Amino acid sequence: MKRFASRKSEFLPRNFYNLKADLPELPPPPLNPQTKEVLAPEELEVIFPQGFIQQEGSLEPYHPIPDEVLSAYEVYRPTPLIYAAGLKEELGTPAHILYKYEGVGPTGSHKSNTAIMQAYLAAQEGVEVLTTETGAGQWGSALAHAGSIFGLKVKVFMVRISYRQKPGRKIMMKLFGAEVEESPSPSTEAGQKFYRENPDHPGSLGIAISEAVEMAVKRKEAKYSLGSVLDAVLMHQSIIGLEAINQMQELGFEPDVIVGCVGGGSNFAGLAFPFVREHIKGKKKIEFIAVEPEICPTLTKGNLRYDHGDTAGLTPLLYMYTLGMDFVPPPIHAGGLRYHGMAPLVSHLVRLGVVKAQAYSQKKVFAAARLFLRTEGILPAPESSHAVAAVIDEALRAKEEKVERVILFNLSGHGFLDISAYEKVE
Ligand SMILES: *Cc1c(COP(=O)(O)O)cnc(C)c1O
Repeated sequence: MKRFASRKSEFLPRNFYNLKADLPELPPPPLNPQTKEVLAPEELEVIFPQGFIQQEGSLEPYHPIPDEVLSAYEVYRPTPLIYAAGLKEELGTPAHILYKYEGVGPTGSHKSNTAIMQAYLAAQEGVEVLTTETGAGQWGSALAHAGSIFGLKVKVFMVRISYRQKPGRKIMMKLFGAEVEESPSPSTEAGQKFYRENPDHPGSLGIAISEAVEMAVKRKEAKYSLGSVLDAVLMHQSIIGLEAINQMQELGFEPDVIVGCVGGGSNFAGLAFPFVREHIKGKKKIEFIAVEPEICPTLTKGNLRYDHGDTAGLTPLLYMYTLGMDFVPPPIHAGGLRYHGMAPLVSHLVRLGVVKAQAYSQKKVFAAARLFLRTEGILPAPESSHAVAAVIDEALRAKEEKVERVILFNLSGHGFLDISAYEKVE
């Protein structure tokens, strides 16, 4: 079967897209964690750069991408949109399967799209240090790289279980000049609480976020950077879907189903939201599927309510699907999907019935990854493999129903640094 892809440079967008401009109804706003009053943007200034806060609160549909950021994107964007000819043939399905391959990014995932923009905004304001957390290390390495572009120091709290299980990304962060510490750490009050009880505590994203936020609040020269969940982060990721709209058109397809894995929701939203705009404007009826792990079932088993983004309760209260701020998911290899909450905008679309959620087991996900490697030649990240597993089921459903459905999904990253996980899980 003939293989083909779209990757023309003229498809690189000049603006980010903000879904909030087109939503008929907005999700409930963030609240101050102490007073429980609606949060004023100024209250975020101790945590985030001002440019970022402006984007977070914006209702403007388009935000121009600065030239410095565009030139960093040009190194790896537009990412290819690939027709999965090998997978289609193997499954014997009439469905057309296409994927946006974000693994070609400098550190192997979509996370650079927002890391580069956030580092730019911080550098513009004279911030010297960006603090952050990382699970499997994709976000930490993306921010470490972005910091190196704009001359910022990056301090990363890495969830202990990943720090020890996945040395590859820790090494990469250090090569970019970042400082990396196991979380829970003895360096912050939020970390000490857990570290003193158990120096081998496996950690969680919620705890690591508390540590990074605490450090940013305490140091004048430092600000905090978050790799997912927030409206502005989802907006930066819209570059994926904006490219895909043009690329799908070039290849002559319109999506019926759009699939992405969800940790905090950013890669899914990045691909989906520009198409959600077409869907809500009635231009095209599309099914949106968000895929999560069974052991961290935020959308399928969690509750929609206000909750903290972190364990210590330092972050604003967000209205989102959540398993509770104290939830520590069992260690799975898809470390990037071990988060108790979900982006408020993704949560909102689930509540409105625009987005459907599904949960998959690690076993099924790894089997899907192996099939994808053999048929498409790319080893997906364990996170992205959740999307692959759901796409395979969708393609088989199309086969059963004998319909030529068009399935588009986000292959959010490659799994080259997760290779040992693929040896361990049968
Ligand atoms: C971080 C990560 C995810 C999960 O985060 P989202 O914000 O939900 O996208 C998924 N895939 C990869 C490759 C990641 O690095």
